[in-house]
Amino acid sequence: MDLDHWLGAAADAIADWQRTFGAYDAHPSVAVSDERLGAALAELTSRLTDNYPFFHPAYAGQMMKPPHPAAVVGYLAAMLINPNNHALDGGPATATMEKEVVGRLADMFGLRTHLGHLTTSGTIANLEALYVARELHPGLGIAYSSEAHYTHARMCAVLGIDGTPVGADAAGRLDLDELDALLATGRVGTVVATAGTTGLGAVDPVHRVLEIARRHGVRVHVDAAYGGFYALLAGQDGLDPAPWGAIAGCDSVVVDPHKHGLQPYGCGAVLLADPDVGRFYLHDSPYTYFTPGDLHLGEISLECSRAGAAAAALWLTFQVLPPTPGGLGQLLAASRRAARGWADLLQESARLSLYQPPELDIVCYFPAGRAMSAIDAASARILSDGMTSGAAYLSTLRVSAAALGRRHPGIDADQTDARILRSVLMKPEHEAFVPELHARVERLAG
Ligand SMILES: *Cc1c(COP(=O)(O)O)cnc(C)c1O
Repeated sequence: MDLDHWLGAAADAIADWQRTFGAYDAHPSVAVSDERLGAALAELTSRLTDNYPFFHPAYAGQMMKPPHPAAVVGYLAAMLINPNNHALDGGPATATMEKEVVGRLADMFGLRTHLGHLTTSGTIANLEALYVARELHPGLGIAYSSEAHYTHARMCAVLGIDGTPVGADAAGRLDLDELDALLATGRVGTVVATAGTTGLGAVDPVHRVLEIARRHGVRVHVDAAYGGFYALLAGQDGLDPAPWGAIAGCDSVVVDPHKHGLQPYGCGAVLLADPDVGRFYLHDSPYTYFTPGDLHLGEISLECSRAGAAAAALWLTFQVLPPTPGGLGQLLAASRRAARGWADLLQESARLSLYQPPELDIVCYFPAGRAMSAIDAASARILSDGMTSGAAYLSTLRVSAAALGRRHPGIDADQTDARILRSVLMKPEHEAFVPELHARVERLAG
């Protein structure tokens, strides 16, 4: 894939279309000399070198990687027109593409009916799901695991909802007994299950959560912002299909195409199982054009302006790497093999310990030490030495003494929590690089 070629082809095709409207003179106020733009661009690209190499497999820190070339080309082509998916007249072509990609996401989760749209982020997508939760059960609270993304507690505060964290089990999954007891109080209207936690990549047992919630007449929202595309691998290579299969029976789900969907930032998605909740979005805008009958995207989104280019980028990506086990699933399978491969090496290591077996593609580990304080200090040092030398770009995760002690009894809890190391292996290239990465981190730990 020659990116130069495809970027040129996209720009040419849009210019051809623009010419069909006839020639006109650009205003002199927008003219800039090539010399001036060239100099400014040189400064920009130089400043952009102040970055971590997110593209490289030695970068094994946060959930970051560049978008697929297809997404870049799709985004650029549409961006040259700059449609706004707020309203149908803001960009009919990209509005239709948005419906198509959202339909594919709904199919991926097995939803029989849905009302959904893209958002600028998983944060906004979750906010919308919690907003609908509040409208359906006014006065009732929302429960989420203590391992859930912090956005749930924060958005409950924004929405004026009572949010209650529920403890996690020894594998970092929502504790079902605690949930059952909380729901029995009748104070909760919706439970958030996380299919792939941001810290550990743990998958809450969505099927069990759903069973318990339904028994209490409670709704279920699934936050699959990070893990959602792993639904493509349900039942493969030991990935328990039950939580993924249960998403089809839940009330709403969120997934971030800008995490595992190869997209640039600005692409989350929310899907609500009951299309009737569209009534909570009704607004009376004097500006936007409404097509009677079919609810259009501007009528089912809390955000107004949204990049049509984000829909085009995801659409073009899905044309070449569809959200199927044989398409995008192949990339995710490689990431998961990378995580399990590294876990095997960590289990043999004298210098590093595996925190818990990885379920998806996040591996957490820590330098050998007798006390929490030593583990914390060594983790911080490895993080910093790895980045300074360029040997490995990792991230850290703060864990409590109780959580660490549960998995690794015998460590002296001389402080309440400690940083351990965390790596998201979300690039398929990580699979081949794992032995090298492991050797580098072992050297850093030595
Ligand atoms: C990343 C993430 C979010 C927040 O999504 P953004 O796209 O960063 O706003 C919410 N929940 C989970 C589980 C996540 O991993």
